Amino acid sequence: MNDSSQSDCIFCKIAKGEIPTELVYDDELVCAFKDLNPQAPLHLLVIPKEHIPKIGDMTEDKQALLARLFTAANELAKKNGVDQDGYRLVINSGDNGGQTVYHLHIHLLGGRFMKWPPG
Ligand code: 5GP
Ligand code: ZN
Repeated sequence: MNDSSQSDCIFCKIAKGEIPTELVYDDELVCAFKDLNPQAPLHLLVIPKEHIPKIGDMTEDKQALLARLFTAANELAKKNGVDQDGYRLVINSGDNGGQTVYHLHIHLLGGRFMKWPPG
């Protein structure tokens, strides 16, 4: 275990290729893949390759990584044809936020109308 990966983290394993998962986006900092339990016709998860448990753990020195995460999410929205109709980016943080996997991820949801407020 080190700063950038955690041996028991499922998303670290996906990022390292230890759990075979089709990556729909992959660069040196960030990757993305389909959610196992999709909540919309398009439901992708965009994650940093580095193990950062939650959004509140982001620090100022990681601004480039944060920008890359959102840039990748927007590129994926375009690539999947939901940019014109609209889509939703969601970050659940902590137990009350509904976070279940403690490796930072952005949900990209699209392909249907999103209600507000979320549950
Ligand atoms: P959270 O509730 O933490 O915001 O979201 C975690 C998401 O990860 C859930 O939508 C869940 O379906 C997804 N997920 C959990 N385990 C796996 C997995 O092993 N593979 C994939 N592709 N998605 C997962
Ligand atoms: Zn991790």
